Amino acid sequence: MPIDPTLPYDDQNVFAKILRGELPCNKVYEDEWSLAFHDIAPQAPVHILVIPKGAYVSWDDFSVRASAEEIAGLARAVGHVAREAGLVEPGYRLLVNTGIEGGQEIPHLHFHIFGGRPLGRMIG
Ligand code: 5GP
Repeated sequence: MPIDPTLPYDDQNVFAKILRGELPCNKVYEDEWSLAFHDIAPQAPVHILVIPKGAYVSWDDFSVRASAEEIAGLARAVGHVAREAGLVEPGYRLLVNTGIEGGQEIPHLHFHIFGGRPLGRMIG
């Protein structure tokens, strides 16, 4: 079920539990600002999620409240993870589902990185 992004942060969401080490993940990268791990139900040969360590419900929440350091840290982590996964030269897709009509299900901001096969053009 898509989430309502106007609700306050729910610290029982699965990504909060992964960040606290209460649930396992298949980690690919971690730094001061971010954690990256494989999606549990991959939609492409490479499907990695990159999340901020801070408690942000959505991209909208993050874009308003995150510090410049957090924004830069997450952006650099996304690029680093895609490069390390070997996706730059063939290309890849970034996706951030946001809110109810955006189809967001987990109420902790996450970037999807998809790659490893031709993804086609996608608008809307
Ligand atoms: P959303 O629809 O919110 O943009 O995407 C949520 C993503 O999180 C989905 O692709 C889903 O497969 C993934 N996901 C949900 N629960 C877990 C989990 O416990 N572990 C991992 N690694 N991925 C999860």
